[in-house]
Amino acid sequence: MIVMKFGGSSVESAQAIERVAGIVKARADRNPVVVVSAMGKTTNKLLAIANTAIAGKRDEYIRQIHDLRDFHSREARQVTPLAHRAELDRWLDEHFEELTELVKGIAVIGELTPRSIDAISSYGERLSSYIVALAFGYFGLPAVHLDARKVIVTDRRHTQAAPIYPETYSRLDAVVPALAAEKVVVMGGFIGSTEDGVTSTLGRGGSDFTASIVGAGIHAEEIQIWTDVDGMLTADPTILTGGHRVKTISFAEAAELAYFGAKVLHPATVIPAVERNIPVLILNSRRPDVPGTLIVSQAVPCKNAVKSIACKRKITLVNIHSSRMFMAHGFLRRIFEVFDRYETSVDMIATSEVSVSLTIDNTTHLARIAEELNEFSQVSTEPEQAIVCLVGENIRYTPGVAAMVFNALRELNIRMISQGASLLNLSVIVAEKDLRSAVEALHTEFFRELDPEVFE
Ligand code: ASP
Repeated sequence: MIVMKFGGSSVESAQAIERVAGIVKARADRNPVVVVSAMGKTTNKLLAIANTAIAGKRDEYIRQIHDLRDFHSREARQVTPLAHRAELDRWLDEHFEELTELVKGIAVIGELTPRSIDAISSYGERLSSYIVALAFGYFGLPAVHLDARKVIVTDRRHTQAAPIYPETYSRLDAVVPALAAEKVVVMGGFIGSTEDGVTSTLGRGGSDFTASIVGAGIHAEEIQIWTDVDGMLTADPTILTGGHRVKTISFAEAAELAYFGAKVLHPATVIPAVERNIPVLILNSRRPDVPGTLIVSQAVPCKNAVKSIACKRKITLVNIHSSRMFMAHGFLRRIFEVFDRYETSVDMIATSEVSVSLTIDNTTHLARIAEELNEFSQVSTEPEQAIVCLVGENIRYTPGVAAMVFNALRELNIRMISQGASLLNLSVIVAEKDLRSAVEALHTEFFRELDPEVFE
C-alpha cells in the first residue's frame, strides 16, 4: 500500500481531478490510499462564509454558499458518470443544506467557536473526497470513499486538534487495508473527529499530516505528497529562480526547512512517518515524471555542506539592553517571562554581557511587551527583517562554513547570526530589503558545485 496525498490546487477543477486520476491509475498496482485536500481555495471560502455570518450579512453568506455549491457542482458533474449524477445532486443538496443550517445557526448566535469553525471548514474535504472518489469511477478506476472522521480520532483542541494515535492507528488498520485490497480508497485530509464523534480538524495545511498518519497507521511502503512544485529546491523559488532540485533529504533537514517557511511540507507531517520509518516522496502533479524529493529517516551522504536555503520574512528584531545584566542572574528569565505572558514565541536569540537580541514574527503584543521590558531595560525594535537559514546535516562537520557565509554576505549588514541550537542549521538575520541579494550570494557560494547524487 502507498498513500498519495493531493493538495488543493491538484484537485481544484474537473481537469485537475482528471490529471490526478491518471497519476493514481498509473500506480494502481501499489494499492493506493488517496488523501485529498479541499478543492482549490475552498477552506478559505468556508471560513469567509463563517465570518460573513457572524457579521450578520445574511444575503452575502447565502450568495457565498450558492457560489460554493455551483463551483463544486459544475466541476463534479464533468467527472461523474451519468448513472451517478442524480446521486451526486442529492449528496450535494444534503450537504449544502446542512452547511446552510449550520451557518444560519452561527449567524443567530453571532459568535464563532473553534468547534463551529471545524464543523464548517470540514465541508471542504468532505466534498472533495466524495467527488474525487466518484471521478475515479468515471475514469475507470474503481474507488471507494472513506469518511476520514471515522478513522482519524483526535483530542478536543478544535482547529488545532492532535490525533490520538493508538485509537487512530487501530481504526486505520481495521478499516483501510481491507478496502484498499479491492479498490482505491479516497479520503479527505485535515478532518477527524473527537472520541465522542464531534468533527475536528488538524489545523491549516493539515492534509499532509493526515497522509502521514494514515501512512503510519497502515504501515504504507511510501507516502507520496503530490504538490505543484518539483520537490524541495536549493532555494525558495519565490525569492530565487534557478534553484536545483534536492533528490534526497533527511527527515531532520526537511523538518528544519518546513519550520523556516518552505511551503512544500507541513512540519508535523514528518513525525508519524519518521516514527515508523516510512519514506515520504514530494512530487509535482503537473509534472508527474519529475522524480521529486525523497525524504528518508537517515542522514544522506552529500558532498555539499548545505542542502537548501530557507527564509522567513516579516521578522521583527527586538534588542534589549541593560547594564544591570552585567554579572547578574535571572535577567533572561525576566525577559522571557514577559514574552511568555503575551504568548509570543521567540525564534532566534543572541546574548552578550549586557544585551539580548531576539526575533519574533508575531507582533500583536509587541507594544505591551516593550513597555514591560522597558521597566528594567532599554528596548529597541527593528521591523522588516528576514531570517535566512542554511540547512544541511553536513554544516556541523564542514570546517569554514561560517567563513563562507561571511564572505558571501560581505557587502551586507548581518544583524544577527546563530548556529548550534539545531546542529543542522545556520541562520542569519538581514533586513528584508537585502533578502534577495543575501539568498543569491549564499546560493552562489554553496551550490557552485553540486553533488550529482543529491542534486539535479
Ligand atoms: N484544506 C485545508 C487547508 O486549506 C487543509 C489542507 O489543504 O491541507 O488548510
